[in-house]
Amino acid sequence: VSFTPVHRSFEEQVRLRADRTLFELPDGHGVTWRQTDLAAGRIAARLLADGVRPGDRVAAQVEKSPEAIALYLATLRIGGVFLPLNTAYTGAEVDYFIGDARPRVFVCAPERREQHAHRAGDGMLVETLGTTGDGTLLDGGPGPDGPGADDRAGRSFEARAEDPAAILYTSGTTGRSKGAVLSHGNLASNCAALVEAWQFTEVDRLIHALPIFHVHGLFVAVNMALTTGATLLYLPRFDAGQIVGLLPRATVLMGVPTFYTRLLDEDRLTPAACASMRLFVSGSAPLLASDHRAFEARTGHAIVERYGMTETGMNTSNPYADGPRRPGTVGRPLAGVSVRVVEPESGRELPAGEVGGIEVRGPNVFAGYWELPEKTAAEFRADGYFKTGDLGRFDADGYLHIVGRDKDLVISGGFNIYPKEIEELLDAHPAVAESAVIGVPHPDFGETVVAVVVAAPGQEPREKELLASVAEHLARFKHPRAVHVVDALPRNIMGKVQKAELRRHYADLFTGPDPRA
Ligand code: ATP
Ligand code: MG
Repeated sequence: VSFTPVHRSFEEQVRLRADRTLFELPDGHGVTWRQTDLAAGRIAARLLADGVRPGDRVAAQVEKSPEAIALYLATLRIGGVFLPLNTAYTGAEVDYFIGDARPRVFVCAPERREQHAHRAGDGMLVETLGTTGDGTLLDGGPGPDGPGADDRAGRSFEARAEDPAAILYTSGTTGRSKGAVLSHGNLASNCAALVEAWQFTEVDRLIHALPIFHVHGLFVAVNMALTTGATLLYLPRFDAGQIVGLLPRATVLMGVPTFYTRLLDEDRLTPAACASMRLFVSGSAPLLASDHRAFEARTGHAIVERYGMTETGMNTSNPYADGPRRPGTVGRPLAGVSVRVVEPESGRELPAGEVGGIEVRGPNVFAGYWELPEKTAAEFRADGYFKTGDLGRFDADGYLHIVGRDKDLVISGGFNIYPKEIEELLDAHPAVAESAVIGVPHPDFGETVVAVVVAAPGQEPREKELLASVAEHLARFKHPRAVHVVDALPRNIMGKVQKAELRRHYADLFTGPDPRA
């Protein structure tokens, strides 16, 4: 099987289009492929001088910038293992990840040097990364934090498919974040499957407003550009107004559902503004079917919803060209990826229509969690399938419907309740903008259902009305025992509802505070 690591594909693209723009920045500045390559070379030389050897981790808690991508490429180029960290992490959180992954180098922003200086030692160096604003790296200045180095760090690393390329920590939605070790083969195969599915080419202009410490922003969006020659319209963060302004110059937008919800509030979102656009992608969290339909009505574009995760990259996507897109589904397995739905205990494969655990096997699936062999063993079947922790079903045409996470399943009086079923009914109520349904402890039933809703603009949802409207569609044991109206659901930066937080908040609703606590 032919295999080209992402950093090699990037180098091929540099040869083809050295002086073309790779990054278009909001201030009108452009960064070329050659500049990015040279910056990667300088950083690679610096990392080599720091003693980074194949397999060593390079942790980066840096703001989004072209230099941050050069740092990523530099790490791959010398066989290092890239470990991006959420820029929102505080000192204690950084301590945890560094303690866990023990990187050789920790890279931070120059203004954070003082704050992190004490971390140096114990085999780890602290470096800083200059950004465009400082005019260092991309102007041919020195590599991170130091004297100039050779432009080229010699030949780039001859990666084998199984060599580790990155450790990416999961979002921590269901518990403590786990480090997923992703190989060069994982990154390259996933990127290739997406390039094929979404017909990516060098003429694409991708609006990039996602963070780059997450699978979606880095291993989907950035890798797809680096390997095909597409241009990145690179925004530091999501800003609906800025994005609407860029649409007329773009072909692709990759976003999380909250992007689309907020774009719908922009008056300038019109079919004319989207005339050059060919692809809108959503993923990382469920897209409301109502938003999907509203977006299509406003722009004429049906959003392509896809499903993936840190451990596997992307698993499924709605069709780009070879079939209809189905709102409320995450589409069909990507090329080379096997997806099945099983009865969780036995692992028996279930027929279409039945809900079970979603499992995935393929070249995209990671080798395991960093230094957690038991956790890894528990999440893989003997035949190589990975248990995603998501619940879903296939429909008769092979489209996958996600019904939730196994950890969000509510078991009330011995009955299984899938929160999504209730959320969809609540979301359809005109007084409701969005909802989250959780299980909370109950003295008689073990757990019972509580609904947390956000009012639609100008609406005041009444508990009685909402309950009446869902009750007619649901068996009694699924009826929420309480409805709470809140201003907003707690979400992380990827738009994922933090149900664990809601469960903690409402834990005592039916049982009273734990006397031992
Ligand atoms: P943790 O594993 O630490 O609890 P996490 O699972 O949220 O956190 P990620 O790897 O960032 O961390 O997210 C992957 C999860 O996101 C999937 O397992 C799935 O539950 C959810 N997800 C991704 N895409 C979609 C989608 N299109 N629809 C519904 N859920 C999705
Ligand atoms: Mg997960």
